[in-house]
Amino acid sequence: MTADCLFCRIVAGEVPARVAHETDNVLAFHDINPQAPTHVLVIPKEHFRAAGDMDPATAGEVLQAAHQVAKAEGIDEDGYRLVFNTGRDAGQTVFHVHCHVLGGRPLAWPPG
Ligand code: C5P
Repeated sequence: MTADCLFCRIVAGEVPARVAHETDNVLAFHDINPQAPTHVLVIPKEHFRAAGDMDPATAGEVLQAAHQVAKAEGIDEDGYRLVFNTGRDAGQTVFHVHCHVLGGRPLAWPPG
């Protein structure tokens, strides 16, 4: 745990979140500022700064959990988007890697 990391504090139960899915290594919770009817964040419980810092096993667990969330939310058939904002130009604001699971409406491409 990294003490000054918001998402580490969510993992520790110090900051509330609406949990959508949880395993030993991964937590998924609803985004507080949803950008689509379904907007869930999937994070590894261990602190990694960005997507490329995760070991392959953890990255795989995050992707599997994202798909589980999509199925549980009922958006897997119509389609959904997984996003890892990475770094300043991509708009990453929380530096604990998180996979956005977005769906429930048609999503424009390219993103802004
Ligand atoms: O990719 P980025 O770093 O910009 O995404 C951070 C996300 O974390 C935002 O979508 C924001 O709404 C969300 N967030 C949250 N709960 C918090 C703080 C931020 O869901 N307590």
